[in-house]
Amino acid sequence: MKELAPPKTLDRFFSDLARARARLLVLDYDGTLAPFAMRREDAQLYPGVAPLLETAISRGTEIAFITGRPARELADRLPFSGIEIFGAHGYEHLETNGTLVQRPLPAPIEAALSDMDQMVATSGYAHARERKHGMLAIHWRHEEAGTRRALEELGARLQGRLPAGMQALSFDGGLEFRAMDHHKGTALAELLARHPNAQVAYLGDDTTDEDAFAALPPEGLGVLVRPELRDTQAHIWLKPPEELREFLLQWATLAPCHGPGRAY
Ligand SMILES: [Mg+2]
Repeated sequence: MKELAPPKTLDRFFSDLARARARLLVLDYDGTLAPFAMRREDAQLYPGVAPLLETAISRGTEIAFITGRPARELADRLPFSGIEIFGAHGYEHLETNGTLVQRPLPAPIEAALSDMDQMVATSGYAHARERKHGMLAIHWRHEEAGTRRALEELGARLQGRLPAGMQALSFDGGLEFRAMDHHKGTALAELLARHPNAQVAYLGDDTTDEDAFAALPPEGLGVLVRPELRDTQAHIWLKPPEELREFLLQWATLAPCHGPGRAY
């Protein structure tokens, strides 16, 4: 564990959290709560994480996920139900009652995404692409060096012809192209607007999580969870899985809060 932004310390955050009327824990999934797997469909929560989250929920913490995955895909992976999920980096919102809302995309961006998707497929890399609402990702984490280089070059070519209103963002093991009006930061801001009095922490691992760290209120805590430290706007760095479990254990074992929690 490393505190990156003194005077904001973990001890101070948890003492504020203990007194808070409402607690909000916002989580990324892949690379943060679940280690990367060879196949994305195999990515499972680190052992011990699910019961800690369940305990936190039972003691009044509101939990929400903000992920790059489609929201329903993540919902199917979670061992509990009725959790609010912002998917596709904020382009989808799965409400606790199961209603899925997709943010509309401008037609030129929809067309550009389809063209790029087609180009990746016809270049022979259909298996490496992931098309989601509002974005296209190319994955090369598990490719051998030659394929990886070819995919990086293809990514650079696509990046060179992005239309206005879209951006390219690299992540651990790939590159994604996405529309810019929603991202993890706008998703977090939407959550915070509905929980104005909550003491909040956001846990994330990659560069797409920086938008969320930047959207935290002054009293919020940004937690970077990854094996190696990197430049970040987060306040704390945790090395998973042990330090992650310690953090969640400390959160879960706080006395129940008496604000408007979901269930306790
Ligand atoms: Mg992640």
